[in-house]
Amino acid sequence: MESSIVHAAQLLRRSRETVALTGAGISTESGIPDFRSPGGVWDRYDPQDFVFPHFMKTEESRKKYWRMSREFYQGMSIARPNAAHLALAELEKRGRLSGIITQNVDGLHHRAGNSLTNIIELHGTVFSVSCLSCGKTLRSQRN
Ligand SMILES: [Zn+2]
Repeated sequence: MESSIVHAAQLLRRSRETVALTGAGISTESGIPDFRSPGGVWDRYDPQDFVFPHFMKTEESRKKYWRMSREFYQGMSIARPNAAHLALAELEKRGRLSGIITQNVDGLHHRAGNSLTNIIELHGTVFSVSCLSCGKTLRSQRN
């Protein structure tokens, strides 16, 4: 274990441009279960119900989507960044990290202190919604 940490530190030191790619695993210690793990979101919802644009077609599927989204928001709005999020924020402050690409929608990289422009949220965030008709975006005060 120690040798892999030393090796990672050497790679970081030598790197001219470092970007972190994160997924659900980084946020489980913050109390956000991996979607696929037991107790995760896909235990309670069928992912096939949320394939775009299928989920927009019926009122029932839209209600299901918003029920799931509300559940996400409630859990994620109280979550705190953990040591891994804070370590990435520290690497950025020290000039060792150029950006973060994340699959997560929890906003914890922002909360940890990483700069807003260096975070690419592949699946968006639960802290904003955009109207598909007019494009207007509303953001929560949380992030
Ligand atoms: Zn609109």
